[in-house]
Amino acid sequence: MTDHDEFPDLIDDFDIAPVRLTVDLQALADNWRDMGQRSGSARAAAVVKADAYGLGLEDCGSTLYEAGARDFFVAVAQEGATLRAYAPDARIFVLSGIWPGQERIFFENDLVPVLASEEQLAFWMAVIAEHGDYPCALQVDTGFNRLGLALEEALALAEDVSRPASFSPVLILSHLHSGDTPSSPTNRAQLESFRQVSAAFEGIESSLSASAGIFLGPDYHFDLTRPGIALYGGESVSGMAPLRPVATAEARIIQIRDAGIGETVSYGATHRLTRQSRLAVASIGYADGYLRSLSGSGIPLRADGSPGAFGFVAGQSVPVIGRITMDLTIFDVTDLPEGAVRPGDYIELFGENIALDDAARAGGTIGYELLTSLGLRHERRYLQAE
Ligand SMILES: *Cc1c(COP(=O)(O)O)cnc(C)c1O
Repeated sequence: MTDHDEFPDLIDDFDIAPVRLTVDLQALADNWRDMGQRSGSARAAAVVKADAYGLGLEDCGSTLYEAGARDFFVAVAQEGATLRAYAPDARIFVLSGIWPGQERIFFENDLVPVLASEEQLAFWMAVIAEHGDYPCALQVDTGFNRLGLALEEALALAEDVSRPASFSPVLILSHLHSGDTPSSPTNRAQLESFRQVSAAFEGIESSLSASAGIFLGPDYHFDLTRPGIALYGGESVSGMAPLRPVATAEARIIQIRDAGIGETVSYGATHRLTRQSRLAVASIGYADGYLRSLSGSGIPLRADGSPGAFGFVAGQSVPVIGRITMDLTIFDVTDLPEGAVRPGDYIELFGENIALDDAARAGGTIGYELLTSLGLRHERRYLQAE
């Protein structure tokens, strides 16, 4: 039997975690202020859906609230209920709208449904007929073909004199599908459609732009902007440098091993070594959101010979080799000086040195997906904002 009292108990979990995530809340607050300035005369909201893009709704939500955000967007009502405790007098919009049976969670947490279809609108009319006036928002589809009333439906509603007086939308919104591509003519077309709706609902605030749209200029700002990814340090416009990085993900190197010419690495033996190599095995895998599509070989994406993702350790970038597995990934550290990396060291997967979106691109995806895939095994450390 081991006497448990012999074990040290003052070790910080973060210092020994297999996988860990540092979230720089100061950078988050700064990025929100930055997007606020870029929004000109419009107010900037904060989009915190999907657990604040995987970085933690409580910590990120309260930081954004402290920084001054008073309008928040979540995807589903439950996220809004969680956020309410951290943003007491803020307006919280629920982008997926409301379903029968959800009245209680909306009313108890003072959430604003973003009504997005004729069915939701009809249900909402019944709710306010029974419970009285309550704020809502309206989403109008201007070309995305995702959520929203059709343009004609929205214009008809604006002119419908028979609609109940207690129906009082506080915000009209739409969403650009190609805001990340400033040269796309569809942005202007969506803008023109949205202007019509915005004018038809005169006196009610309107909102068109997410992160990318804010960079399209003042025409796109209206009353309220809805930045998400830019706050978390991701790229919003193709080819444009992101704001400050917010998240740094690292994994612990469990083992360093030598392997010889002709030996193979990982499942399927898809990487054959052509030199005497040193390999670092890190405790991160696709179960932690380090997507299998980031693998160095052995997946369809690598058929064109392009490299997989890189990690950063001992001051250098090193490639993933072979397939990423559920809990483990192998990096080629042969080019590092002997002894530069040791078992127990941490390797950065993305953050200060490996741009989030560069890592994502290696896996054929976007920073949004990498962040929201992070999973539950990460030990998190939040660097507090001042
Ligand atoms: C997710 C989302 C946003 C935020 O988008 P980003 O590209 O992350 O800035 C804004 N509006 C709507 C409707 C969304 O779904």
